[in-house]
Amino acid sequence: MTEPETSILGSTRGKNSGDAFCATNPATGEHLNTFYAPASEAETERSAELAEQASLRLAALSGSEKGKFLRAIADGVDHIVEELVSIMTAETGLPEPRVRGETGRTSGQLRMFADLVEEGSWVDARIDHAIPDRQPIPKPDIRSMLRPIGPVGVFCASNFPLAFSVAGGDTASAFAAGCPVIVKAHHAHPGTALAVGKVVQAAVASCGLPEGTFSLLYGGGRTVGQHLVRHPSLKAVGFTGSRSGGRALFDLAASRPEPIPVYAEMSSVNPIFLLPSALADRGEQIAEGLLGSATLGVGQFCTNPGIVLHDKGELGEKFKNDYAKLMGQSSAAPMLHSGIRDAYGQGVSSLSSRPQIEALNDCGDDRGQGNCDAQAAVFAADAAAFLSDEALSEEIFGPSTLLVGCDGMDQMLEVARNLEGQLTATIFGSKEEIAAAEDLVAILETKAGRLLLNQFPTGVEVCQSIVHGGPYPATADGRSTSVGTAAILRFARPVCYQGFPDEHLPDELRDNNPLGINRLIDGDKA
Ligand code: NAP
Repeated sequence: MTEPETSILGSTRGKNSGDAFCATNPATGEHLNTFYAPASEAETERSAELAEQASLRLAALSGSEKGKFLRAIADGVDHIVEELVSIMTAETGLPEPRVRGETGRTSGQLRMFADLVEEGSWVDARIDHAIPDRQPIPKPDIRSMLRPIGPVGVFCASNFPLAFSVAGGDTASAFAAGCPVIVKAHHAHPGTALAVGKVVQAAVASCGLPEGTFSLLYGGGRTVGQHLVRHPSLKAVGFTGSRSGGRALFDLAASRPEPIPVYAEMSSVNPIFLLPSALADRGEQIAEGLLGSATLGVGQFCTNPGIVLHDKGELGEKFKNDYAKLMGQSSAAPMLHSGIRDAYGQGVSSLSSRPQIEALNDCGDDRGQGNCDAQAAVFAADAAAFLSDEALSEEIFGPSTLLVGCDGMDQMLEVARNLEGQLTATIFGSKEEIAAAEDLVAILETKAGRLLLNQFPTGVEVCQSIVHGGPYPATADGRSTSVGTAAILRFARPVCYQGFPDEHLPDELRDNNPLGINRLIDGDKA
């Protein structure tokens, strides 16, 4: 075995601490021949200490300096796209176009945050001028703006090896806020993590930033990951993955002597409500669209529609049959790693075993050459059964759909009221039906971060107004989004300056507004 690759610790690399692991190609079962050594406790500590040392320098960077850094990473990521195609397809089984697409999304996100911080108004600057002669007491000069929270730990997602990993949205938004980042690599795509990690390390050096701006740690979540989250220098965590993993990190962070926020995106079944005229007018078209949405990326998107509610009756039966046929005809494909495939198999078999559940196709258990292939699965249940058995509303991560037959709108509303928090909730219906469904919209607004009309939920646009978040268990903090420019708010906190003379204020809060940003001055937008 050649020397294993090791963690990135600021400007240096870690040591080979034993127990090296390698990735496995989920499409072929081949063990890839590069090994990676987990970070030792001392290395994890070192990464956190370096991050703390870098904190004040990063917090003092101007928007244009942060923009330059983010653009350097974006250019670097684009530059290694061919290398990423080769490594990431082997580590994940994802097809080449997906790797290219996700590379573009990743560099695009970095540039989006560069634009945001270069413009500068994101800091939400607020100025209340002093009124010295106010009665009965004088009003002091008070100004506030958002400042970086400090070192952030980021856990790479298995299902987005680029866009939610080393230089993905969590990292980009934390850097944009002015925070150092320590990334915990995902065990399933360590080579992809290293290729991107080297790009970030090089950008730190070329921009003259302190080495602790970025580290990348290999190792298990329960060892290295938890050690990192316990470290007193860490001030926030970004995570995308399982409910059990996210919850464990959330509980750990809350039990620290100094609790810190964990922004965990975890589990969502993304319900779709099919109103009667949608089924009557375009049932077949919706079944085809749903097939595409439910099987895209072998169902491994957090916005995958897992539960579909429809009216019972003839049209509902036809929809069930059409959809089950289409899903049954879809080809099996490899999931991202054997753990995810095991969890999918367990989810499908556990759902099949529930009373009052009808399996509409036989998805078998042929796991293919790499032992990771999955076949789409469709189940049906009556709404009354759905409401009486909590297990039916649990996420099955993968290409599985549960069709739930309802007795009219009242029962749909009852199901909606009983849903857990979701990333998305979707309604298909005619204009008139949707106008009459205000109760349903009002309930879904309390349940999900993004509501959709007559569109499928997979495919998350990266933009200013997107919300990729939702009440628990969709995320650990339903007030946040992990996609779009508002993701920066997770890693910033408001700081107020009272009685500071103009020359001692940050540029964003000075009287002559040297950065020309939008501000709230004495209650008026300016
Ligand atoms: P995962 O098992 O939650 O792992 C994600 C990351 O968290 C990994 O780095 C993992 O470390 C770490 N981790 C897991 N449990 C932990 C714990 N108790 N304490 C500390 N760290 C922990 O997620 P996954 O590997 O991506 O996929 C497994 C399942 O997660 C899927 O079957 C699916 O149910 C769910 N998932 C959901 C979404 C979503 O967007 N909703 C996305 C991806 C996955 P290791 O390296 O040690 O594994």
